Amino acid sequence: MADYHRKYFGLKKEVAPVLEGTYASRLVDLLRLKGYEVAFGGLTVKLAKEFGFCVGVERSIQMAYETRRMFPHKRIFITAEIIHNAYVNKQLVEMGCIFLNGQYKNGNFENITADDVVILPAFGASVEEIEEIKKKGAFIVDSTCGAVVSVWNNVHRYAKDDFTSLIHGKYSHEETIATASRATGKADGYTGIDVGKQGKYLIVRDMDEAKYVCEYIIRGGDRDEFLKKFKHGTSVGFDPDRDLERIGVANQTTMLSSETLAIQGAVRAAFVQKYGEAETQQRVRSADTICSATQDRQDAMGEMLQRRRPDVMIVIGGYNSSNTGHLAEMGIEKGVPTYHIDDGTCLMSKNEIRHQPIGAKENVVTENWWPRSAEPLIGITAGASTPNNKIGDVFVRLFELNGADLDEMMASVEALPTPELTEEEKRKLERMKILHH
Ligand code: SF4
Repeated sequence: MADYHRKYFGLKKEVAPVLEGTYASRLVDLLRLKGYEVAFGGLTVKLAKEFGFCVGVERSIQMAYETRRMFPHKRIFITAEIIHNAYVNKQLVEMGCIFLNGQYKNGNFENITADDVVILPAFGASVEEIEEIKKKGAFIVDSTCGAVVSVWNNVHRYAKDDFTSLIHGKYSHEETIATASRATGKADGYTGIDVGKQGKYLIVRDMDEAKYVCEYIIRGGDRDEFLKKFKHGTSVGFDPDRDLERIGVANQTTMLSSETLAIQGAVRAAFVQKYGEAETQQRVRSADTICSATQDRQDAMGEMLQRRRPDVMIVIGGYNSSNTGHLAEMGIEKGVPTYHIDDGTCLMSKNEIRHQPIGAKENVVTENWWPRSAEPLIGITAGASTPNNKIGDVFVRLFELNGADLDEMMASVEALPTPELTEEEKRKLERMKILHH
C-alpha cells in the first residue's frame, strides 16, 4: 500500500533560503511596499496590485523542494508540470525530478516502483493516474491546491445526485482532466468515495460552446454533430439526448470568471425556457469555484485598465498558464496593446518584443511595440505561477530599454515614501512573504 502525504515535511527553514534565492525579488517586494508604481526618466511603470505566485503555487513549490530534501536518494517523479512556468519546472529538472507528462516528460509511469516518490502537482492528477501510482506502491506527495479539491467535491456530488457536470475549462488542461475524472463519480482511493454509478461530464471551453449546448438543451439538434464537436470533452458513452436533463456547472479554477458566470446564467436561462422556473431549481446547480487568487488578479487587472489606462500592458507568465492568458485577454478586450511574455529577455529592444498572441502556439516578434507617448505609462501584471524575480527582471529591463541608469532608478525606488497600509494590505503582505521565512 502506498503512503499518501498531503502536508509539508516540516522543512521550511531548510528550503526557504533556496526558494528565496531562486524565486524572490527585493525590487518587487519594495514595489509592493511603496505603492506599485515607479516614474523615472520619463517612463512610468505600474504593477497591478495583485500579481504573481498565489498561495496554492507557493505551497506546491515548497512541497516539491521539501520532498527533494526529505528523500535525497530516492527517485522523485512528478505527474505533470508542477505549475505552468518554464523557469520553475526547469529548476525541478535540475534537481533531478522526473516528469511523467508534458513538455518536460523524461520518464514513464511503467518505471515507477515502490521505492520511488511521486509528486502530484498544484492542479492535481486524475483518478486513473493516482490508482496507477498506488498500485506501484510509491510514496505519493499530493500538492493539489485546496481550491481545486473544492471543485472536485462539487463534481463528485453532481455525479452522486445524477447531475451531468458541465465543466467550463480546457479539455487538455491537467486540472480539467483531473476534475473530469472525479465527475465520473469514481473514488481516487484516498480522498473520495465511489458513488457506485457512472457520472457524466461535458467540457465547454467558452461561451460559444456553451451557447451551442444551451441551444441543444432547448431545441435538441444533430446528435452526431454534437458528439463530434465535443469528442475530446465528454465522458464515455455521453448522449446529449439523455445527459443534458440535469446539469451541475463547474469550472477550471483559472478561467475568466466573468465568462464562467455568464455560462452559468446561460445554462439556467436555457432550462427556464425548456422546463420553466420551478423545475429549473431541481435541474440546475452551480458553484462559484473560480479560485480567489485568479479572481483577485483579474480584479486588479480590471482596476488597472479602468483607472489610468496604460499605453501598453505586459503580462508575464508561462504560455500554457491559463490564468496568465486570461489576464492578457482582458487587456486586449479593453483595446490596450497587450503582450504576453514569459520573461525579461522577450523585451528584445524598444523596437522588438517577442511574445505569444492569445490562442497561438508559437512566439512571434512584433515591431514598434514601445509606446509613442513622450512620457509613457507601461502596466505590468503576472499570472499566479510567475515568480517575483521574473517580474522584477521585466521591470528593470523596461527602464534599461529607456536608457535609465539602473542604480539611480533603484535608488529612486528605495527613496519612495511608504504609504500607510490598511490592515487588509498588511495581511496580504504577510501572506506574500511565505518565501522569505
Ligand atoms: S491559481 Fe488558484 S487553484 Fe491554482 S494553485 Fe493558485 S490558488 Fe490554487
